[in-house]
Amino acid sequence: MDCPFRYERETLYCEEVPLADIAASAGTPCYVYSSKAILDRFHAYEDSLADIPHAVCYAVKANSNLGILALLAKAGAGFDIVSGGELYRVLKAGASPGKVVFSGVGKTAEEVEYALEQGIHSFNCESEPELALIDSLAGRLGKRARVALRANPDVDAVTHPYISTGLSEHKFGIDIKLVEAIYERARALRNIELDGVSCHIGSQLLDPAPVLEALDRLLALVDRLRAKGTEIRHLDLGGGIGVPYKRSDPAPDIAGFVREVRKRIEGRNLKLMLEPGRSIVAEAGVLLTRVLYRKTTPRKEFIVVDAAMNDLIRPSLYGSYHEIIPLRRRAAETITADVVGPVCESGDFLAKDRQIANVFPGDLLAVCTSGAYGFVAASNYNSRPRPAEVLVEGSQWRMVRQRETLEDLTRGESV
Ligand SMILES: *Cc1c(COP(=O)(O)O)cnc(C)c1O
Repeated sequence: MDCPFRYERETLYCEEVPLADIAASAGTPCYVYSSKAILDRFHAYEDSLADIPHAVCYAVKANSNLGILALLAKAGAGFDIVSGGELYRVLKAGASPGKVVFSGVGKTAEEVEYALEQGIHSFNCESEPELALIDSLAGRLGKRARVALRANPDVDAVTHPYISTGLSEHKFGIDIKLVEAIYERARALRNIELDGVSCHIGSQLLDPAPVLEALDRLLALVDRLRAKGTEIRHLDLGGGIGVPYKRSDPAPDIAGFVREVRKRIEGRNLKLMLEPGRSIVAEAGVLLTRVLYRKTTPRKEFIVVDAAMNDLIRPSLYGSYHEIIPLRRRAAETITADVVGPVCESGDFLAKDRQIANVFPGDLLAVCTSGAYGFVAASNYNSRPRPAEVLVEGSQWRMVRQRETLEDLTRGESV
């Protein structure tokens, strides 16, 4: 898949726009997303499934900016949400509620009611008490709720422990050995149409084999349920396909993965649903930052930049690697340094002991592969206004979120 960010001469571009132009006018720190990269990746899922019943439901939590949601809604995407707030966003972006699936282990009564009123496609339900709640609220509203139980297939996703979800020790889903009995008992619930199975085993999976293993286990479950007379019409395989953060990482092939899924599901009379998040937006985004200071201690070299852990928490939270490259490429000289932000925590870093261009105060850097789980996890820690977000389309770009102001910082507070 094409990388939307590339050097022309010595200048780094996003599509046809020099990133330095965006930094000059939008300021830093600033997230920049390529609409072409997002659409290319969405179509890598969508186009391989065009002739079978399916829905590619973008996982909103990876990047919930309205501009990106509207872009995907227009391209025909469905949406996977994990809160009432995300439902509000996708509706505001112009998505049809009938293409929305609601996942998550802790849905509140208010959220379930909101989703029922709007008429979403289905709930991925994670426990028997949640199923009872959906049934009673649907009854009160005079609706029938379509539901899939999220099975926990007990496969090891082989990823960072914080983003692995498919082992029996995790809070997610219902143990695949216990789930059949719940389908049986749920026949008594009159306001529920329990006609789906779902799972989501983790995130940043560079090898899709565990997802295919989970699919095999879900298909065996579908066979057992159908044999007992439960009609199952849709199967939701969740998201989780990873992206290469390092050049040495293998780059999962979305179309190849979808072909493998298709092979297993074709002819089984099941609508296939997928919930990709990271693999659609991660590589489409960078975080632009400006070098504030160089600082040398007896032990280390530091590059102090104006972006921090409150803007992009992944390095601090997971120890994740993001490549960092200059907006203006120069001669090959590099240094080894930590790239750190202004936040008052030793855990505030974007890179450690990194071989990096020898940059100086005022120089601009791009923190690569930051389109997923970047801005959405940004906070105001240290009373730092959250960054601007920009969407590029060819030679055009527009602000899809203003940088926060000082007034924004205290909105809703009082003395
Ligand atoms: C987070 C999440 C996703 C998306 O995962 P990615 O790794 O970003 O593809 C999909 N489904 C559910 C239920 C999730 O919680």
